[in-house]
Parts: sequence; structure tokens; C-alpha cells
Amino acid sequence: MTLALGMPTVRRDPGAAPSTEGRPDVDDLVDRFGRVARDLRVSITEKCSLRCTYCMPEEGLPAIPRDDLLTAVEIARLVGIGAGRLGVREVRFTGGEPLTRGDLVEIVRLSAEAAPGIPLAMTTNGIGLDRSAQALVDAGLSRINVSLDTVDREHFARLTRRDRLPRVLAGLSAAAAAGLGPIKVNAVLMRETLEDAPELVAFALEHGLRLRFIEQMPLDADAAWRRDNMVPAAELLSVLESRFALTPVGREDPSAPAEEWAVDGGPATVGIIASVTRSFCEACDRTRITAEGTVRSCLFGDDETDLRGLLRSGAGDDEIASLWRAAMWGKQAGHGIDAAGFAPPIRSMGAIGG
Ligand code: SAM
Repeated sequence: MTLALGMPTVRRDPGAAPSTEGRPDVDDLVDRFGRVARDLRVSITEKCSLRCTYCMPEEGLPAIPRDDLLTAVEIARLVGIGAGRLGVREVRFTGGEPLTRGDLVEIVRLSAEAAPGIPLAMTTNGIGLDRSAQALVDAGLSRINVSLDTVDREHFARLTRRDRLPRVLAGLSAAAAAGLGPIKVNAVLMRETLEDAPELVAFALEHGLRLRFIEQMPLDADAAWRRDNMVPAAELLSVLESRFALTPVGREDPSAPAEEWAVDGGPATVGIIASVTRSFCEACDRTRITAEGTVRSCLFGDDETDLRGLLRSGAGDDEIASLWRAAMWGKQAGHGIDAAGFAPPIRSMGAIGG
């Protein structure tokens, strides 16, 4: 079965906005469980230059019709509303692969103008960054996370279904040269590449990268994820401890998803985001906008609220902000992976924006 882009329940009629019963009259993006969303993820495309098995189907996701994609101006307007009215404190562009979008520099530039002083970040596989890192920094990009699961070229090609490791490494170097350091590197924990983990840590130490391993979540388009086959954080730790001395140092801040370990006495650390075995949903501070302009309050919640319709109908910022607030008030308590009857979301990670 292919989940592909999926058909989540999208509330398109602002008249059918999610209920705000019990919501206090505050500007911020609060929810019923006392959380406040300050970290905005904006997916800007479904297209990607890789086909990671834990994310994308081999043939890629079905193309979003061009008119359905938010434009650079619309993205920047939402970023401005998030930062100016809703308490958003960081914005991250993601996808799909943001670097596949031809107007990425424009998106960053307009967003920087719309949300002055707010850090703009991007999660990317790094392919093509060697050509655009400096332009992105000049446009206002301030932080970057590069996804890299292994530095073994053959394993990389198998996992991503593309032989493009050298291009990712070129992207990493360009990002550092453009001043985007400290660069964070995200590695999804997969059984096929677990044995490569110590080498990836050594690579990160050598290049001053802040590496974080992420437990694989059931967000693959092929619906192949199995709880009993995923690599839990505890197993990774024992693999890493065969080569490094690790000392737990906690989280950077209470809402940071990664728990950090000092490597060989520090100061370098390696992080583990144990999204499945030590979920941190109770501290989640994320709000997401999909490439088609819906608010998604949780990676695992298929109930989305459309903002694009309002944006294109001439609505004012106040009206858009209030619908966004209502969408976040309904955020679910957690991903529920361990709950009886858990069903993965209809959209896969690449279609939501990781
Ligand atoms: N193309 C960009 C990239 O590779 O970083 C941005 C989009 S990608 C969906 C964002 C992040 O989600 C990546 O770090 C990726 O490894 C992670 N990811 C994708 N599928 C995942 C899954 N099933 N479980 C955990 N993380 C996943």
C-alpha cells in the first residue's frame, strides 16, 4: 500500500473552523494541554532529490498542482502573521526538499522581511546547497539542519535510492563556508545503517557537526514501519559505546527534542531524538503549515485546517490568525504510537514536512 500524499481531513470552510470552546483569549498558539507552539515548520514542496525508504515512495510523491502550492508571497505572509501575532519564535523551511524549489531564496528573503529578528532555518538533504548556500545566507537564512544517515556511499545509495553522497558532502562544506555553522546533522536510525553509526559520529566530530540520531517513526509512504524492527535509542547507545565514552548531559532546553551525550568527555556531544521510545509530545512546541497552506497541529494528526482559501479570498491578518489559533487549540495530546489501535497518519513525512 502507498500512502503517498494522502487525503487528510481538511477543513476548507472557515465557517467550519475547529471548536475553540474553553480556549482562553490569548494571542499565542495554545492548546488544550497547556502547550504553546512557538516553532513554525513550513513545508514548501513535496518534491525531493532523494527517495529515502523511511520517507518517500520509490516513484516520489504525486505532484501538487502548481496553483495549489503556496507562493513565496503567501508563505512570507503566513510567516509574518505567525511571528507578529501568534508568538512564533523560530521558522524552519522543510519539505520534500526545499532546495528543489526555484524561488527558495525569494521565500527566505520575503520571510526575513516579514518576520524581522526571527531566526529562519532550513532542514535539507544538502543536495544543491553548494550552489545556493551563500545566496540563502544573504537572503536571511540563519540555521541549517542537514539530513545524513551514513557516510558509507553504498549504504547511502541503498537507503536513499540515489548515489548522491558526494553531493551532500559538498553541500555540507558549502554551508560551513557560508557561515551557517554550527550545522546540525539529522540521521534517522535504521537497521541497515546502524553499524555505520560510530563512523558517522567520528565524521561529525572531525567536521564540527552537531549530530542527532532520530528514531524512525511510522511516517513512511510505503507503510513498512514496524515497532519490533525499528532501532530504539537504547540499542544505538550500546553500539556507540563500543567506540566512544558517552556521558548524559540532558537537553539543551526543556522543549528541545534531543537528549545529549558528551562524547569522550566533551565538549562535543551527540544527540538522540527518541521520538518513539521516549516521546516528548508533552513538550511539543510545533505548529506546521503544509505546502498547500493547511495548518497541521501534529505530525500524527490528519485533521488539517486550510488557510490558503482565506489568504486568497482577501481575508485580513486577524482573520487568518484566528483560524490558525483555532486549529492549534484542537491539537491532539500525543502521537499515540504505543496506543492500542494506533494507525499511522494518512500523509507521509515528505508530504507533511519533517
Ligand atoms: N528533504 C529534507 C531533508 O532531507 O532533511 C527535508 C524534509 S525531511 C522529510 C525532514 C526530516 O525528516 C529529515 O531529517 C528526515 O530524515 C526526517 N524523516 C523522514 N522520515 C522520517 C521517519 N519516518 N522517521 C523519522 N524521521 C524521518
